[in-house]
Amino acid sequence: LVRGDGHVLHKKSIPIKTTSSHIIDQILLSISLLLKEIKVGQELIGIGMGAPGNVNRLKGTIQGAYNLSGLEDQAIVEIIQKKHSYPIFIDNDATNAAKGEFLFGAGKNCQHMVALTIGTGIGGGIILNGQVFHGITDYAGEIGHMTVVPNGRLCSCGNYGCLEAYSSASAMVDQARQALRRRETSQLETLKPNEINSERICYWANEGDSLCESIVQDAGHFIGLAIANIINLLNIPLVVVGGGVSAGGKVLFQSIDESANKHVLPRLRGTFRVEKALLGNDAGVIGSASAVFMEGLEHTHTL
Ligand SMILES: [Zn+2]
Repeated sequence: LVRGDGHVLHKKSIPIKTTSSHIIDQILLSISLLLKEIKVGQELIGIGMGAPGNVNRLKGTIQGAYNLSGLEDQAIVEIIQKKHSYPIFIDNDATNAAKGEFLFGAGKNCQHMVALTIGTGIGGGIILNGQVFHGITDYAGEIGHMTVVPNGRLCSCGNYGCLEAYSSASAMVDQARQALRRRETSQLETLKPNEINSERICYWANEGDSLCESIVQDAGHFIGLAIANIINLLNIPLVVVGGGVSAGGKVLFQSIDESANKHVLPRLRGTFRVEKALLGNDAGVIGSASAVFMEGLEHTHTL
């Protein structure tokens, strides 16, 4: 439950089971629980939802959420609206995160920005002239699948050389495991293979562990390369980096800055900032609410 100024009033987190019917039941349950928290004098203007994969905003369906395959082609909005009559605004989770950063986070007062969410995968959202740019089939902002190495590593999408295969949390963990198998020395050796995650890699990178440092620098290098392409394409002043990997601290952001400024058109050097997202763990919640604030109000105006 999020107030109009972005303040989170209530949050509920529900562990999900893997089948789609269960997930929908759990979504309906979480909506009912939150509706009970609305106090007298408060008015609910809409329900915002974010989902991984491609979301068809007009049909209200979710398609191709690779890591939630049971939800493919679910008419989620129709199902929820049978129970709750509020307007529902659904979008890709990374696009929603961009809306949240634009309204309440690092992109406040910035009319043009791109936000990258770097976790297990890499998503993105584009804001131009204060509005989300969705593209003709709502796929705009799939920056994780920008090619950074022709014929490079295999990506979850089936193509080769995507940014996601180099700079996501999963890519970093893969690199760490491979290095340990080659008997490279690192603080990570003290962990069991399944305990290695991007948080630990980022932590040790900033503590001077040379293997972790080089993994984070490599990830940052490719993120910077992608950002240079974004800047060349859009000439925007701000790129916000969020998601779990954004905890990569100084090592990550230094390498992003170096690489972005190295690869961008020389005249554009110094014209843009790369900043860490400010909404942190609330990016999903505030981002989904921002979908209501941005698109709900836009909708009201057009009516
Ligand atoms: Zn890909």
